[in-house]
Amino acid sequence: MTNKTVFVATCDLAAQVRGRAVPASRLEQTLRTGVGWVPANLALSCFGALTPDNLFGSVGDLRLLPDPDAALDISDDGEIPGTRVYLADQTDLDGRPWAGCPRNFLTRALDDLFAATGLRVHASFEHEFMLGGQADHPPFSFQRLRAAEPFGTELVSALEAAGLEPESWLPEYGSGQFEITLRPAPGMVSADRAILMRELVRDLARRRGLPVTFVPIADPADVGNGVHVHFSLSDADGRPVMFDADAPGRLSSLAARFAGGILRHAPAVVAVTAPNPSSYLRLTPHRWSAGGAFLADRNREALLRIAPTVQIGDADPSRQLHLEYRAADATANPWLVLGVLIRAGLAGLADGEPARVWPETATEADLAAEPSLPTGLAEALDALESDEVARGWFPDELLSTFLAVRRAELAAVSGLPEIELCRKVARVY
Ligand code: GLU
Ligand code: MG
Repeated sequence: MTNKTVFVATCDLAAQVRGRAVPASRLEQTLRTGVGWVPANLALSCFGALTPDNLFGSVGDLRLLPDPDAALDISDDGEIPGTRVYLADQTDLDGRPWAGCPRNFLTRALDDLFAATGLRVHASFEHEFMLGGQADHPPFSFQRLRAAEPFGTELVSALEAAGLEPESWLPEYGSGQFEITLRPAPGMVSADRAILMRELVRDLARRRGLPVTFVPIADPADVGNGVHVHFSLSDADGRPVMFDADAPGRLSSLAARFAGGILRHAPAVVAVTAPNPSSYLRLTPHRWSAGGAFLADRNREALLRIAPTVQIGDADPSRQLHLEYRAADATANPWLVLGVLIRAGLAGLADGEPARVWPETATEADLAAEPSLPTGLAEALDALESDEVARGWFPDELLSTFLAVRRAELAAVSGLPEIELCRKVARVY
């Protein structure tokens, strides 16, 4: 490795990637025993303040144990040295998983899903973000794409070189907005890639002097920056189980039950996937974010959208059909996001009530009776806390710290006008 340093990191409850660098010469030892970490760091808010009266205080020690497969090489550019970032599990000093670790939350959700059903998840996180510092060219235009060069091509090339499998890179609708999509990957890999991809975008933009932000919404008058989570289920032999040509929306009854769990626990799930006060300025109708807690065929206002399949040539729809969860944003930790979707889906499989599938022709009037999403973070966090089933998905220290951190962030922006709130959050993300 030509890098002089290696950065070992976690992604925390505020979706911040925090950790420590070691000299590259210590890589072997670091992969074996990790680097030191402090339990109270879990209680850091997105604004950098330690949540007072957190469970951990000044005592305790952890290790950040890197996953050798969850790495991203950031190349040097002649002036700024490169480095390698490893995502890590937080463990006790003996290597046992720490209950507060968000990555372990996803590991356990994936394991429990497989143990209970023999199913595996593949997923992909689709991200929107806004680049500043350039003229505002038209939505979706070639002009906007080219104005963002060489950043765009550097991003796509770096993602390919790092094996993150970029799928498309496009100028989006909002002002200075872009979107990047990655190929589907096994559950943990998809969440790791989401975390690493955000950091790569920020790193490349910083080098080019371009302000960049994944804020859920930069201006309440504009559209938001979504993180849409595409996911599918397959059996132990890798066969897709979500497709049924004869069912409404071609969604198998198993997939409709899985979706039913997500809809039934939507307020609690949304608290985790849209965990910032600004998230709720984005999650309002007519922004194509998510206008209500319903499942619909190819409808961009749905919380759960049945994504289209391509029938050109002899492409097999059963291998393409999947669900897209639209109410996440980049203030959420991808490990927790995928973890709660799996937990809610598992609850749906257990209680057996399939979600109603709205056809593409459903009108706004048809959908009006469907439950709305929480209208603010305080309401969402209360819903999470009072959903007995959802509470059971989390180790106590993880849930109580999550609630405390997110409530502290809410208090920190109390009374701010909406646009000031968006600006403050944009500076962090
Ligand atoms: N910007 C929309 C959001 O906040 C998504 C638009 C789209 O790509 O469908 O989720
Ligand atoms: Mg988009």
